[in-house]
Amino acid sequence: MKKYKIDFFSDANTNPSKEMRQTMCQAEVGNEVAGEDPTVNKLLDKVCELLGKEAAVFLPSGMMCNGIAYRVLCQRPGDLIVLDKTAHPLLKGAGLIAGLAQAEPHVIKGKRGIFTSKDIEPVLSRSKGFNQPSVRVVSIEQSTNFGGGSIWPLDTIQEVCSLAHTSNAFCHMDGARLLNAVVETGISAAEYSKNFDSVWIDFSKSLGAPMGAVLAGSKAFIEEAWYYKFQQGGGLHQAGILAAGCLYALENNVSKIPEIHARTKQLATLLSELPFITLDIKDVETNIILLKIDHPYLSAFEVQAGLAQKGIRVFAFSDEYIRLLLHLDITPADINEVFSTFKEIGERSSLEMRTS
Ligand SMILES: *Cc1c(COP(=O)(O)O)cnc(C)c1O
Repeated sequence: MKKYKIDFFSDANTNPSKEMRQTMCQAEVGNEVAGEDPTVNKLLDKVCELLGKEAAVFLPSGMMCNGIAYRVLCQRPGDLIVLDKTAHPLLKGAGLIAGLAQAEPHVIKGKRGIFTSKDIEPVLSRSKGFNQPSVRVVSIEQSTNFGGGSIWPLDTIQEVCSLAHTSNAFCHMDGARLLNAVVETGISAAEYSKNFDSVWIDFSKSLGAPMGAVLAGSKAFIEEAWYYKFQQGGGLHQAGILAAGCLYALENNVSKIPEIHARTKQLATLLSELPFITLDIKDVETNIILLKIDHPYLSAFEVQAGLAQKGIRVFAFSDEYIRLLLHLDITPADINEVFSTFKEIGERSSLEMRTS
């Protein structure tokens, strides 16, 4: 039995639909390593078109996309990768920047996961001697995860990438939730990707596939990426079964993202009215809610535990902050239930403390 009946922990925690599973069962397959899997090839063609890139490679996960892209783009051990302090590869990447790319992170304190060209100018322009590493990659996340689902504005992207490129650094976009930004702003994925040397999208986040991600870039970049994919044991054989789930997600689930975003805003609006929650609904741009618990007697961990008792899973990542991720499996009824459970926990606890 599932431990949680409503799961806001991650948008990767979705159950592939019956139709998606049927499509996967019927997929035409071949040898992916030899480039002969027709379903993988179809997926790669679609993603190249979507992102406006020359070539692409199918990978099991987004984490492998980041690791392999960094490995290809970095040239010397000790090269710097510039990222925001909330970047997923830093917080959840199992040390991949040092471990796989042999690089060093240069961390920027952006706002809600977003930094500007001004923020990176000092590190890009500092003198380059034999005793200092160079910035090789500037890496951004569209839309942000631990930045609370915020969307990088196009002009900020253009300024950051233009400065990076004139400083001989490459630009990488972690597009785990790129399509959330696309759906919300109406700016195309190709437009967002134009300034980047490497970009990837994930099919297991808002798109609801069981697994799979596609990394894209120039032909030369993808040829190199194949080397490290293989080195990491990423040769996938009859991967068409998985690629079919990704294709299904692209064709059928992108159109469901507006509904997910609307539900996120609806829940955020409800929660923001509770006296012990601090949350600016203007900050809720996509499918993520980051809220602060300001309760006289309860920490975020205690609220998380209270919700868990009622079968609702959220992620408290400090004693103040809770993250909720909305996805395909969250229903309108779930929104009301999670709101009333939050309310009940906050009110009950105040009452218990006053009367005990
Ligand atoms: C989830 C996530 C990843 C990793 O993707 P997986 O497919 O789970 O490996 C990378 N970056 C961001 C921003 C993410 O949210």
